[in-house]
Formats: sequence, C-alpha cells, structure tokens
Amino acid sequence: MRPVIITANWKMNTTPADAGPLAADIAKATDVAGITRIICPPYTNISAVSDAVEGTGVLVGAQNVHAEPKGAYTGEVSADMLKGLVSWCIIGHSERRRDQFESDELVGQKTIRLVEAGISPMMCCGEQLEEREAGSAVATVQAQVKASLETIMAAGNGLPADLVIAYEPVWAIGTGKTATGADAAEMADAIRATIADVGGADYAESVPVLYGGSVTADSFAEFINEPSIDGALIGGAGLKPDQMAGIAATAAEAAAARANS
Ligand code: PEP
Repeated sequence: MRPVIITANWKMNTTPADAGPLAADIAKATDVAGITRIICPPYTNISAVSDAVEGTGVLVGAQNVHAEPKGAYTGEVSADMLKGLVSWCIIGHSERRRDQFESDELVGQKTIRLVEAGISPMMCCGEQLEEREAGSAVATVQAQVKASLETIMAAGNGLPADLVIAYEPVWAIGTGKTATGADAAEMADAIRATIADVGGADYAESVPVLYGGSVTADSFAEFINEPSIDGALIGGAGLKPDQMAGIAATAAEAAAARANS
C-alpha cells in the first residue's frame, strides 16, 4: 500500500530565527497517525527545522539539489552536502523550471545524485494553462516524466524505489485555483501509465503521486478522496499551522480508510 504524504514547501520564506518555532507548531498541529509529514524549508533553515521537529516524526526535505556531484558551481548545493541533513528533496519544481530553465533531463540527473546520496526524490511535473486549454496537458506531463525517468534509466541503475511524483498544474500554483479532483486523478493515472512504460507496472503501482496547486484544508479532501492520489505538495498553506492541521486530519482519515479497504 502506498503511503499518504503531506509535504510543506516553504519556498523562499522563513528565517533561521522563525523557522524552528513554525516547524514545531506545524509538527504539533499535524500530529496524527498513519501519514508521512515532510517540511521543506530553505537550505539555511534546515538545521533549525530539524532541531525543532526532532522526535515528532516529521521529516525534513530540501527544495532543490545541483545535478553535478561537486565542483565549480558557486552558490550551489550538492546531494552530498545534504546527506545526513535531509531525507527528502524536491526536484523539478515549476518555479525552477521557469526561473532556472531546468529541463526534464536535468531533473533526471538531479534524481541520480539524490539516489547516490540516499535522499528520497520528490519529482514535480505539471502543465501550463495554455497546454490544459489546448487539450495537451496529459501528453505534456507524460513527456516530462518520461524524459526524466529515461535519463535515470540511461545511467544504468534503474528507477529509485522511493520515488514520489508531485503533479502540480503550473496555473494552480499560488493562484488560488485548483484542478478538479477528477482531472488530477486522470493525470495521476496517466503518470503511472508512463512510469509503467519505463519501469514496469508493479513499480508504477508503488510510486506515490501527490497533487499540488493551491491546496488548503478545505480543498484537500477532493484530491485525497481519489484513490490514485496519495497526498499533497503544499506551498502557501504549508506555512500555516491551522491549515496544515486540517490537511493532516483529512490525510489521516484517508490513510485509515485505505488501510481498512
Ligand atoms: C508549491 O509550491 O508546490 C505549491 C503547490 O504552492 P501553492 O500550494 O501555494 O499553490
């Protein structure tokens, strides 16, 4: 059975001073059974968050990693630098694809680095509004996932056992708009079909697919009630303990229902 996962992506928010107290508040607010909780603070606040959530079961992730193992890349952070500090890392977020022009192949390279370092990859994908309106959303997202996974396969080590995919329609991120549960579920099925093409049907069934894009305590049920969706990647609401409390409570209900079915 796939885990139910809720992940807060704090983006470029919080300081070393306020990250620890916020993480502690979120850990307390989301203290429910049966789900995986992850907080991804900025690099500079990873240690403050780790200290604050110690013993709570909350896991800590990074928001990005460099695709090369080391070298002359001023200001960048390698997977080895994150080793021991985080257990998860987001890769291929649409804001990085937009601002740093990250390609699907680069996202695949980053995944390889994370696997080498023993860090679990949370790989983002998602279509632009024009692509959804043109009816090409599924093909776009499938092409993204396929290119990243084929890059990993080409390196010869197979696909990561702990891979998570976060489907985030770009037009829904930070806009207050969400996909419908049915559209997100259709995409999750399409993503798993692509994963199956590259890595086999059993492997595809084991990969959690999260939804991201303006998820709140009010909207989350629509997504987690879809059997093919296994949780959420949460931006804005991930900075609000009361929102995270509602999301976690709904996630726990879904996890319990799945365990009993
Ligand atoms: C995100 O950052 O991945 C995200 C989904 O943001 P928001 O929830 O604010 O749309």
